[in-house]
Amino acid sequence: MYILWFFIGTIVGSFLCLVADRLPRQQSILYPGSHCSFCGHRLRPQEMIPILSIILQKVRCTHCQHKLPLRYLFCEVATGCLFMLFLPVLSMENFWVLFWVLSSFVLALIDYDTYLVEGKIFLFTGSLLVLSGLLLEMPLHWSHPLIIIACFYLLQKLMPDSMGTGDLWVLALWSLFLLMYELLIILLIASASGILFYGYQQLRKKNLREIPFLPFLFLGLCLLQLLKKA
Ligand SMILES: [Zn+2]
Repeated sequence: MYILWFFIGTIVGSFLCLVADRLPRQQSILYPGSHCSFCGHRLRPQEMIPILSIILQKVRCTHCQHKLPLRYLFCEVATGCLFMLFLPVLSMENFWVLFWVLSSFVLALIDYDTYLVEGKIFLFTGSLLVLSGLLLEMPLHWSHPLIIIACFYLLQKLMPDSMGTGDLWVLALWSLFLLMYELLIILLIASASGILFYGYQQLRKKNLREIPFLPFLFLGLCLLQLLKKA
């Protein structure tokens, strides 16, 4: 069963990566079909098998031999693992948490590329998450987003521009479903991993204009949800 979930996850991961690549550029996610971004070569079915194709092709396009980015491989493996970890048992609650994690994964990928929280995806997946959460009778904490917004404005007064507005909306949404100490755990993990990432980039002598925070919030969310399952 785990292998099946991993396999389905890799297919979903490939699609999520495509969405994260195309939507910020206002491109259709349906047309054109998957192709090499260097020479435009349309991928044949045997070149679209998640994980296997890219490894068998030695991470190169079969047409122009250009080295392919490892991003798709990363997304496929990561999403496969998320399916395995979050669906140990088939239940609507587990699907709901998986949807939450995967929608945050797409937002994190886009934030990593563009330093922006993609509004359309956030609104669409956020509304779905709240509606399905209500249907599944998940405990919702309606006062939490207000507390988060108040803390954000206080933080902006003390340390201007320390956090983006996009991150605020994401945290406000997540806070609906989380206890305050759970939110703090996410923030702690995100801050610690963000600092480590910054340090690593400094060692590589890469000057960052800012740090995309959502990938680290996503990491915090995943770890918290796994802790809650354990
Ligand atoms: Zn090519």
